[in-house]
Amino acid sequence: MVEGRPRIVFVPYPAQGHITPMFHLAHAMHHQHGFQSILVNPNFIHNRLIASSSGATNDPDNHGVIYANIPDGLHDGESIDFFAISHAMENHMPCHLECLLKSFETVGGVSCVVVDLLASWAVGVAERCRIPVAGFWPAMLGTYRLISGVPDMICRGLIDKNGTPIQEGATSFIKGQPKLNPEELPWLIGSPSSRRSRFAFWLRTIDRCKSLGWLILNSFHGEEINTENLLSSPRIFRIGPLPTHSPTPTLWCEDGICIEWLDKQSPSSVVYVSFGSWVDPIGDDKVAELALGLEASEKPFLWVLSTAWRSGLPEGYLDRVKGRGMLVSWAPQREVLEHGAVGCYLMHCGWNSTIEAVERGKRLLCYPVAGDQFVNCTYIVDVWKVGVRLGKLERGEVEEGVKRLMDGCCGGEMMRRVLALKELMMGRHGRLGADAELNAFVDALANWTLD
Ligand code: UDP
Repeated sequence: MVEGRPRIVFVPYPAQGHITPMFHLAHAMHHQHGFQSILVNPNFIHNRLIASSSGATNDPDNHGVIYANIPDGLHDGESIDFFAISHAMENHMPCHLECLLKSFETVGGVSCVVVDLLASWAVGVAERCRIPVAGFWPAMLGTYRLISGVPDMICRGLIDKNGTPIQEGATSFIKGQPKLNPEELPWLIGSPSSRRSRFAFWLRTIDRCKSLGWLILNSFHGEEINTENLLSSPRIFRIGPLPTHSPTPTLWCEDGICIEWLDKQSPSSVVYVSFGSWVDPIGDDKVAELALGLEASEKPFLWVLSTAWRSGLPEGYLDRVKGRGMLVSWAPQREVLEHGAVGCYLMHCGWNSTIEAVERGKRLLCYPVAGDQFVNCTYIVDVWKVGVRLGKLERGEVEEGVKRLMDGCCGGEMMRRVLALKELMMGRHGRLGADAELNAFVDALANWTLD
């Protein structure tokens, strides 16, 4: 390890969509501000990162971020879902993080621990070690406001104390935010008991984050102006979109063959289809409808579909679409979206994917499935108007949606708007704004004193 530099420790929630932005933040703190950045993952994630990157993740010349791993109590072959991860985070990881933080005491200590709010278990650990803590929200400001607003929603009778919606019909749960269907609140996933556990998870998060003085948001200037009624009024640094030029650690091996395939397609002709990294399977029926809709659109398509989901493809499908349709298990997504052959992106509205697509000026076809994806979708479709929502993912709707975006005049309008949003996000003002916020965070760290 490099001695003599201020050290900063990053604790992401253990999932791809969280590791990616935390990694980019760690990378920026190292390369732009000279920190020694240490990214802490549980063993099960660390092992997968090592496996998918041929063991190069710990090479400081690779991208400058040092990887540390802590035991998680998970066993080989155990199915790792939200509940197993929550158990590991609450019961196994805290004492190991504490040991790790203490191990730095004799070599200059740690200047700050940056904690993903979904890994709020680590806030108390850092506080016990008397190290300054910053919260990190990897998603958009709108979803942060929604979660912060939970106590108020209970008071206003919009949801009950278990998070079950009382209000019927599309509702503006937070003042000034677009309406959301009550069934689309982020914790409403799975069975009633799963919903209650997920809601309890958020209540715990809200409670633990009350003490935070700083909050870093992977959110961009112009995304939304209103920052009223935020949880515990921390000082906010909006550092998004984070620069994404460095190689990103991924949990799966990327299939680069799809780039060669894209090279052979005409400009703006291809539909890129991906539902992100963790989303609950959409089910065989939906996979079949999506497959038939893509076939009927007569456009070339690149579809990220893991082998576990391919059982939903209609019989003989792969032969019928041979040459026109390309399926991969995991794509180098930013490279794909950068490619001139990609004309639109049929997506689940994950926040990282949304930013990556807008950054590269791609129009969106949206089929949100769970969590924050519904909120993101309302911004994409209703506020920014850079995408079209698919209601049921039926074949006719998929075909029509693709044609509308790729051929119709609505597609041209949307392209104009997505380029304007890209300018807002990435243009001179957006970029300078994000850099200034990161500088302000570094200044806040330098001026921090223990009470
Ligand atoms: N991703 C990728 N290859 C794929 C599919 C996804 O590299 O084939 C990346 C994508 O670029 C994004 C992340 O995985 O950075 C997914 O994050 P997001 O927030 O969009 O969705 P989540 O997986 O959290 O639902």
